[in-house]
Amino acid sequence: MRVTRIVDLSRPIGPGTQAFPGDRAPELTRSATLAEEGYNSTELHMSTHNGTHADAPFHFLADGARVDELPLELFTGRAVVADVRGRGDRSPIAAADLGPWRGRFVPGAVVLLHTGWSAHYGTDRYFDHPYLAGDAARMLVDAGVRTIGIDAPSPDETPFGAHPGSGWDTHLAVLGAGGTIIENLCGLELLDFPDPWFSAFPLRLDSGDGAPVRAVAMRWSADG
Ligand SMILES: [Zn+2]
Repeated sequence: MRVTRIVDLSRPIGPGTQAFPGDRAPELTRSATLAEEGYNSTELHMSTHNGTHADAPFHFLADGARVDELPLELFTGRAVVADVRGRGDRSPIAAADLGPWRGRFVPGAVVLLHTGWSAHYGTDRYFDHPYLAGDAARMLVDAGVRTIGIDAPSPDETPFGAHPGSGWDTHLAVLGAGGTIIENLCGLELLDFPDPWFSAFPLRLDSGDGAPVRAVAMRWSADG
C-alpha cells in the first residue's frame, strides 16, 4: 500500500483567514529574523476555531472531552463525500437529502458535506451557508458516525447580521456523542477518485475546545 495522491482540504492560516463572527483573524508576528538573530521564528496568535479546525466536545459541553483527550481514530477514516451542492442560502440539509449515501454511514466513516459553499469563502455570503438539520445529524450519530466535516464555517446555521441562526442542534448531537466536527474545509471538488481516505489530526492543545488541523484526502494504491 502506498499513497499516490494527497489533496489538501485546508485553508491557509494568516491575517487573511476569514474568522467566524466574533472571532479575530490569526496574527503572525516575526519574533526573530535571519538578519538579527540568524534564524526566523514567528509568534502565532489565533482562535482555536480559525481556519480549518476540529471542534472538541468541550466546545459546547462543560463535561465534554478536550481536544487532547479525544481518540486519534476520530480524525482519520474512509471519507463519504455527500454531494449536496446547489442549495440556496441558509437551506437545511435534511436526513432525506443524505439518502443516496445512507448505506455508507457506518462507524469509522468520515462524512464530508460538500455544499460547494467554500466558493464564497472571504465574503459575507460564506456565513449564509446551508446547514445540517438536527434530525440529519442525529441520523448520522445513530448510524455510528462520529466525524463530520463541512466546507463551510459550521454545520449549524451561523448567526450573522440580521440572522439569529437556529441553534446548535448538530454541534450538540455530534459533540454530545463524543465526536468531532471539522469546519472550513475546502477542495472537496478535487476528490475525483474512489474511496478517498481522510485525515485531519488536531494540534495537541492542552484542554483545547478545538484545534487547527491539516485536513487532507489521500488516494491509496494497492501496488508497491
Ligand atoms: Zn469550531
